[in-house]
Amino acid sequence: MILDQFKLDGKVAIVTGGARGLGRAMAMAVAEAGADVALVDILDMSEAKTQIEKCGRRCLTITADLSKKECVDDIVNTTVEKLGRLDILFNNAGIIRRAPVLEFSEKDWDDVMNINIRTLFFLSQAAARAMVKQGHGGKIINTASLLSFQGGILVPSYTASKSAVMGLTRLLANELAPHKINVNAIAPGYMATDNTKPLREDPVRNKAILDRIPAGRWGEPDDLKGAAVFLASPASDYVNGYTIAVDGGWLAR
Ligand code: NAD
Repeated sequence: MILDQFKLDGKVAIVTGGARGLGRAMAMAVAEAGADVALVDILDMSEAKTQIEKCGRRCLTITADLSKKECVDDIVNTTVEKLGRLDILFNNAGIIRRAPVLEFSEKDWDDVMNINIRTLFFLSQAAARAMVKQGHGGKIINTASLLSFQGGILVPSYTASKSAVMGLTRLLANELAPHKINVNAIAPGYMATDNTKPLREDPVRNKAILDRIPAGRWGEPDDLKGAAVFLASPASDYVNGYTIAVDGGWLAR
C-alpha cells in the first residue's frame, strides 16, 4: 500500500542543525514517521529531544561544531554505535552572512562555505561510507535554497554555497545510486525562522518578499515535513539528484 512506503519504522536519521528551525521540524517529521533521530548542533538540543521522545522515538544529541570537518567521523560512528545503524542523513545546518559585495569579508566567505558546503560534503562522504558498509542503501537530503536557483543580493557566500549544494547533490546522487543511496535536496522558500528574522523585521524587504510569493505568506518550518518524509522514505526510491522547492510558488513566478 502506498502509505506504507512513507513509513520509517526501524530507521535511524541524523539531522544537522536540529536544535531549532527547519532542522527541528524535519527531525520531528521523520520521528513521527517512525525513525530514531541523532540531532547534531552547537546549541542546546534538549527541547527538540524531548519533543522527539514524546512521540516514542529514541533521540541522541551530538554537540558538534560543523564549521570544522574534523567532527564528521565521530558524528557517524556515535550514531551507529548508540542507535545501531544509519539510514538517513539530513545535511541541514547552515548559516548566512549579509553584506554588500564591495564590503564582503574573507571571514564571512569562509565561515559560510565551511558549514554550508565543505562539511556537508565530508559528512555525506562519512555517512555514505557507513551506508555502503551496511549494505542496504540510504537517503541523503541536503537543504538547498532559492539561492541555489537565483542570485539574490547581499549574500555572496550564501548564494555560492547553496548553488554548490544543488550541484553536489547531483554529483553525489550519480555516484551513490549504484549503492541504492538516494541523494536529493529540499530548497525551502522564505521560511519564518531565526535565520530570516532580519528580513522579516525590515518592512520594505518583508513587503517585497510577501508580494512575490503566490501563496501570500512566509513558509512555516512544518511546511517542509511532507517533502522531508518523502525524500527519507522508500516512496522516493527512484528520485535521484533532484532539488524540490517548497516555496509557496516563488520560483514559479
Ligand atoms: P536556524 O538558524 O534557525 O537553524 C540553523 C541551525 O543550524 C541552528 O540550530 C544552528 O545552531 C545550527 N548551526 C549553525 N551553525 C552550526 C555549527 N557551526 N555547528 C553545528 N550547528 C550549527 O536556520 P534555519 O532557517 O532553520 O535554516 C536551516 C537550513 O535551511 C540552513 O541550511 C539554511 O541556509 C536553510 N534555508 C533556510 C531558509 C529560511 O528561509 N529560513 C530558506 C532556505 C534555506
